[in-house]
Amino acid sequence: MPVNRHTQIIVSPFGPRAWPPGFHRGVDLRTVIREPFKQLFIVAPENIKIIKIGWQDKWGGNIIARGLDSGYKLKFIHVKEADGLAEGKTVETGTIIARPVTTDYMKERNFWQHLHFETWGPVKPFDPVKYFDERGIKYEYK
Ligand SMILES: [Zn+2]
Repeated sequence: MPVNRHTQIIVSPFGPRAWPPGFHRGVDLRTVIREPFKQLFIVAPENIKIIKIGWQDKWGGNIIARGLDSGYKLKFIHVKEADGLAEGKTVETGTIIARPVTTDYMKERNFWQHLHFETWGPVKPFDPVKYFDERGIKYEYK
């Protein structure tokens, strides 16, 4: 979690990067298994409260939530929210909150489908692998 598989596959890490240029404020997590093909979903990695649900034509939907166990702010980007999800709603760990979205804008730029996941302290984002370590979530870099 947040991708509903045992081990999170990090395809782009947190920090400065060459492409797209700039500081990557989260990690990109693979959201498909290719052989046999399986579409994965986005699930609540802990009990969360939904703060905001939004949409951008370029980058798809985004969900901002508060971790009720960790206290962190969590951001899920390039998603379409699950039916019934709404701002202000509390969601239990492991519940499906969204499915991944790849917009035409992303496809044209050869972005593979992924979840962009951010974890925020009081003022700034930090490397989500710290969050994974704190919560015993397994991950690997590809
Ligand atoms: Zn990203």
